[in-house]
Amino acid sequence: MKSHYRVVVIGGGVVGASVLYHLAKFGWSDICLIERSVLTAGSSWHAAGGFHALNADPNIAALQAYTIDLLSQIEQESGKSVGMHMTGGLTLAGTPDRWEWLQSAYRIFQSIGIEDVRLVTPEEAGELCPVMSTHGILGGMWADREGYIDTTGTVHAYAGAAKINGAEVIEHNRVLELHQTSEGWDVITEKGKVSCEHVINAGGLWAKQVGRMAGIELPVSPLAHHYLLTENIPDIEALDQELPLVVDLEGFTYMRQDQQGMLLGIYEINHQHWMMDGAPWDYGIELLEEDINRIENELTLGFERYPVLQDAGVKNWVNGAFTFSPDGNPLVGPVPGKRGYWCACAVMAGFLQGGGVGKSLAEWIIHGEPEADVYGMDVARYGPYAANKQYIRQTTGQFYTRRFVMTYPNEQLPAGRPLKKAPAYSDMSAAGCYWGISWDLEVPLYFAPAGFEETPSLKRSNAFDIVADECRAVREGVGLLDISGFSRFEVSGPNAEAWLDRLTAGRLPQPGRARLAPMLSPEGRLKGDLTLFNWGDGSWWIMGSYYLRAWHMRWFDDHLDDGVSVRDLGEDTVGFSLAGPKSRDVIVKLTDGAVGELPFMGCADFDIGLLRCRVGRLSVAGELGYEIHCRMGDHIELRRILLEAGADLGIREYGFNALLSLRLEKSFGIWSAEFTQGYTPGMTGMDRWIAWDKGDFIGREAALAERDGDGPAQRLVTLEIDALDADASGFEPIWSDGKRVGFVTSGGFGHSTGKSLAMALVDRDYAAEGTGLSVHVVGVERPAKVIAPSPYDPGGKAMRA
Ligand SMILES: Cc1cc2nc3c(=O)[nH]c(=O)nc-3n(C[C@H](O)[C@H](O)[C@H](O)COP(=O)(O)OP(=O)(O)OC[C@H]3O[C@@H](n4cnc5c(N)ncnc54)[C@H](O)[C@@H]3O)c2cc1C
Repeated sequence: MKSHYRVVVIGGGVVGASVLYHLAKFGWSDICLIERSVLTAGSSWHAAGGFHALNADPNIAALQAYTIDLLSQIEQESGKSVGMHMTGGLTLAGTPDRWEWLQSAYRIFQSIGIEDVRLVTPEEAGELCPVMSTHGILGGMWADREGYIDTTGTVHAYAGAAKINGAEVIEHNRVLELHQTSEGWDVITEKGKVSCEHVINAGGLWAKQVGRMAGIELPVSPLAHHYLLTENIPDIEALDQELPLVVDLEGFTYMRQDQQGMLLGIYEINHQHWMMDGAPWDYGIELLEEDINRIENELTLGFERYPVLQDAGVKNWVNGAFTFSPDGNPLVGPVPGKRGYWCACAVMAGFLQGGGVGKSLAEWIIHGEPEADVYGMDVARYGPYAANKQYIRQTTGQFYTRRFVMTYPNEQLPAGRPLKKAPAYSDMSAAGCYWGISWDLEVPLYFAPAGFEETPSLKRSNAFDIVADECRAVREGVGLLDISGFSRFEVSGPNAEAWLDRLTAGRLPQPGRARLAPMLSPEGRLKGDLTLFNWGDGSWWIMGSYYLRAWHMRWFDDHLDDGVSVRDLGEDTVGFSLAGPKSRDVIVKLTDGAVGELPFMGCADFDIGLLRCRVGRLSVAGELGYEIHCRMGDHIELRRILLEAGADLGIREYGFNALLSLRLEKSFGIWSAEFTQGYTPGMTGMDRWIAWDKGDFIGREAALAERDGDGPAQRLVTLEIDALDADASGFEPIWSDGKRVGFVTSGGFGHSTGKSLAMALVDRDYAAEGTGLSVHVVGVERPAKVIAPSPYDPGGKAMRA
């Protein structure tokens, strides 16, 4: 072991080994991995080794696909066997809704280019897995590239290939402490001190403690997990093919062949956390006692699905622990506020996702940004609220228990809620508010009559008419929306203006004005769809999506200049938005200031009743509208006076479900759908906000190259879909004469236009208005056509009124 490395990876499980491999493969030498015991000594040695294609986040599914391709490659490079069994895999659906969901998921796989999947009938499923009972199965999905590997062999293959490329692996050396230095980190180990520029927490079951060594409370916890291994089973011995990997979603089990027997794994409904503060340091290559009572129901279902198990002897029980984040996706990337400290932990399926995690993290460290949009596993998708142990217990437990339980797109899950409530929460609840969650905050979805319950559905739900009424109220009268769930950052200091000009690609607003502001990465990809406010008193606001608060703050901090201060106002400032043709009539009643004369995109401070508020004249609904920001403590009173002033004008409170429909009718894109860090300004139309002549800004060169080159291959369009009882939601494939030409970025019903609408990225040859296409909506192919943007009020007269 040397005294200095460029990178120190802590942890020799599959994830740490993959990070090391990718750093070495991409050309970095002077890197090492330090392992407490021997390689694989955490979760990795006893994993079932299965890999399969499904993931609810298509970006993560794509990284899983990458990992599957990589496994054979590391075997070749290292000369160490990964014990590959590419058996193919079946995912089973046992309820009508699940079958519908699976058909829909199949189409989404097509959208992201995973083509080697197909739907199968129960009979075909039975032929593909002859020892399985097809009782209750309505259909399944077959994937060619699923199977299992030898877990220990795989970790050694990653590490071996890394070593061939110049990396070092140091075993039997526990990292004891971490100290941040001006150059990076001092890593205090049992064998002495090592300094490095970058340190990576790939501590698996010990990730919590490796976080605490740097003063970080990571939202991660181990949970226990069972599988059993049987003796040889004669029916399996008699087969001339290997069994596929089978995931029985309604049975909570997964199954694969193990030698001439079977491995049956169980996602326990009655989950059990284990060592929430991290595994003991002396925990070795060992297992937990099996707890068969806890898994009795799932076992019964498993034995019914595979009747051969009834007579098989159980050779081994494995009850081991592995780690989960609140949403089950990994925690990867630079930790905000800890320069040079990177996470590669909470990887629930390390053999399936470890390759993608290692690749993305290595690119991030070397190039400053990963190639793929990895927001879904970015450690900065959580904020400080997620350090709470009870929050971690509830959310990780919920994820684990629901691992194979279907979650509907309109379903609200209870774990870790309610957490943060804007002050008017109780009053809004009394008014019938139905709440959703954004980051830590309860946000209004819609207002329903007492006793209303929304039915979980893949299609339009029973809240459809409620949302339609809210949309009508906004379009025809005036609606009130709690906009505490927008982010607000205050930028001040002598260099604030110059910094904002470099940070964002658009022209800065004049004093007293607001303006849309794309923010780009140096590679010219989107980093934000922000709105800038120039309050005219030397202070500026950046507004964006609330759930990106930590993610954006990390970017601002990483690019901060001297003489600039950025303050996240998320704990201090909340507000309401008035939207609709009568909104001016409401607001002017409450102020003797000239708020009625505020121009479109104007902003200023006004007295609203007894409150002092910051007001911007804009609305995401595409109507005449005002965003009114107040102190946290003024929220209840602001709502009260706005409702009172609007009473005779028929004011109606509305929620974000209506807002999503209203903005879709205006073809206003939103983050995580039309705008992501995977897309460019040219693709998404954000380029029209770029000030090409304003001088330098982050991403300028790349944006210019896009503008002056051949142009983007795909373009954002608006679609009208001839839908039946469901609307598109996102990632559905778009077809022209059987050729896949794009995918939906978001969709929904436009209640004022009476149309099922979607926004979509399509190949540029299919982007012209009037082009006839088709789209799979919840698995059913429906005709669609490209229409002109903003089907509601294309001239924008309403919002400029
Ligand atoms: C029963 C069971 C079945 C599973 N089946 C599958 C499956 O089929 N497919 C799949 O993809 N995944 C499966 N998993 C999950 C899989 O095991 C994990 O996702 C994976 O092992 C995580 O790898 P890791 O490298 O993050 O963590 P770990 O394997 O826990 O590795 C972390 C390493 O860091 C070392 N370390 C920690 N702290 C320090 C320190 N301070 N100094 C030095 N070293 C340190 C530890 O000794 C350990 O070796 C299963 C898990 C279990 C329990």
